[in-house]
Amino acid sequence: MSVIINDTCITCDACLQQCPVNAIVDDSNNPTGKKQYYVQPEKCVECVGIYDDPQCAAICPSIGCITWDMPFSVEFDEHFRNETIYKLGVSKDGKIKSPAYKEKLYRHDIPLAERGIGKLVQEEPESLEEAG
Ligand code: SF4
Ligand code: SF4
Repeated sequence: MSVIINDTCITCDACLQQCPVNAIVDDSNNPTGKKQYYVQPEKCVECVGIYDDPQCAAICPSIGCITWDMPFSVEFDEHFRNETIYKLGVSKDGKIKSPAYKEKLYRHDIPLAERGIGKLVQEEPESLEEAG
């Protein structure tokens, strides 16, 4: 992936329609059973080639709810096999759709040091200066 949604999700539904590759599912379809929206890491492409930034994070009203995750690349295959965090899809021939099965696009300009669950995609807005 890419990006991950945490438990501060207020299930507002704003991100779901925004995703260009239909990688997001709602709380009732979250395969991990958590009552929050879920990004399917095996589908997310970090909006590469489509938008300048991850559109789900750009529209999410809950600041800090969507954070970077590791690239969905073979190097992080074990990471995405963690079944307490993800529930990857299974191919027709019975293979888990982990990065070893098929890697996805990701933003190479985001350093690994700035990735990981909890690393903000969407910066908090700078505090507004009082007018006048
Ligand atoms: S980063 Fe882009 S592709 Fe990934 S879930 Fe968000 S909107 Fe979809
Ligand atoms: S936009 Fe944010 S708060 Fe709303 S459903 Fe998506 S992740 Fe949850």
